[in-house]
Amino acid sequence: MPATVPRTHELVIQGFIPAPPNQLIAELDRLIAENEVCPKCQSSMRYEPWTRYGVTIQYRAFAGCRTCDYRVEI
Ligand SMILES: [Zn+2]
Repeated sequence: MPATVPRTHELVIQGFIPAPPNQLIAELDRLIAENEVCPKCQSSMRYEPWTRYGVTIQYRAFAGCRTCDYRVEI
């Protein structure tokens, strides 16, 4: 069973900001996300980076459908 994908407000509450940790990661993961096709509606997907700065940097990236509410962690 796949893990539940957090919603935007849940990431904000956890202290994440909607940004990549650096440009190289952003470029690589953007390619991955934008090559995905939504399994629900076949629309293209966009890259959604989230980073939390603390003792360590935590980074989570998602591909989000441009048309419906489908999101997947990449
Ligand atoms: Zn979709």
